[in-house]
Amino acid sequence: MVFSSYGTIVFPLDKWFDTFHDGSENTHQRIIKNKYQIRNILKITAAVLRELNQPLEIEELELAEPKANEVLVKIDAFGICHSDYHVVTGLAKQELPVVLGHEGAGTVIQIGEGVTNVKFGQNVLLNWFPYCKQCPQCTAGNTNHCKTYMKMLGQGKMLDGTTRLTDANNKPVLQLSGLACWATHVVVPDIICTKMPESTPPEIAALIGCAVTTGVGAVLNQASVHKGSSVVVYGSGGVGLSIIMGCVQAGAEKIIAVDRTETKEMIARNMGATHFVKAGGDTVRVVKDLTEGLGADYAFDAVGSIEIAEMLLPSLRERGLALLVGVPPADSRLQVDATDVFRQEKKLTGTIYGSADTAVDFEKYAKMYLSGSLPVDKLISKHYKIEEINEACRDMLNGEIARGVVTF
Ligand SMILES: [Zn+2]
Ligand SMILES: [Zn+2]
Repeated sequence: MVFSSYGTIVFPLDKWFDTFHDGSENTHQRIIKNKYQIRNILKITAAVLRELNQPLEIEELELAEPKANEVLVKIDAFGICHSDYHVVTGLAKQELPVVLGHEGAGTVIQIGEGVTNVKFGQNVLLNWFPYCKQCPQCTAGNTNHCKTYMKMLGQGKMLDGTTRLTDANNKPVLQLSGLACWATHVVVPDIICTKMPESTPPEIAALIGCAVTTGVGAVLNQASVHKGSSVVVYGSGGVGLSIIMGCVQAGAEKIIAVDRTETKEMIARNMGATHFVKAGGDTVRVVKDLTEGLGADYAFDAVGSIEIAEMLLPSLRERGLALLVGVPPADSRLQVDATDVFRQEKKLTGTIYGSADTAVDFEKYAKMYLSGSLPVDKLISKHYKIEEINEACRDMLNGEIARGVVTF
């Protein structure tokens, strides 16, 4: 791990920080900078998507140093989320080449000018959808619809419209959600860093950064699942299992997990599912049979599939609530039976990022994990090295694992 420069200087990272751990320059650094006009570049390893539906390339990239209000974070763990894979298949639109990854945690190792909310050496969770507190949505309290940071989501660039990554041919490489944590290091806006309680393991913080907040938040913030209710959850991946965790928290009595893979039964039951249904042609009928012929009070699509989304309303009893939690394909359309909506008063809505107030919820879920009430560790089936990223994606697609995590 080295910094290289415009000239011939290569500066070990440890040496760079040996005097002032708050990120300020020591005298030696200032002399070198003035003499050689160094632009600090960190060589990093990252998983790059260059072509749709092709394996990710593990490449050495150059990462520019943080600008004002940005920080450099050494990634300690990241999760493999299905939403990243939607970019690989083109279901989510994103210019290429891009470094994927939006579920990560790490250690702050350099801070840019004006950064006040995090310090050198802090363990942080990376928030893929922070909020500005100033736009109309933020001031109205709808922080998970922040207009300012919504721009970063689809662009793959920082707010200034540039990227901090370049490849071996000196060409820019985009950063998914302005984040790009399928890498050894990231430079990100300081606002996306949330300090975690010190004893939080990095892989737990990473999962709270997407799957847990999305799933548990969908249950507690958006659905407000009530005690003693019945719930059906389609999909038992990281988000679906987090929904199940949330339903346990909410005191749901009947939690029906549905998945196409039988091996998920044990995992789903271990998270708190009371019933398991292998997805097939008559899934809705089986769900009805398990709910006294009425249907469930709540139905969640954790996959982001139109086929599943159209099964949600038929799975509900009168006045039930259906939620789209997984990311649906871009430009897709849903067909619903008008009778379900009108006569039976069923409701359909969605939830992005668990409708969370991330300034509060991340820390809340970390504390719930540390106190033993939210078993986030049970979500993790397998650990990988970054070089095994394509294998990790394959395992996720095969449906054999809950969540795979890469640790360093
Ligand atoms: Zn995700
Ligand atoms: Zn905002």
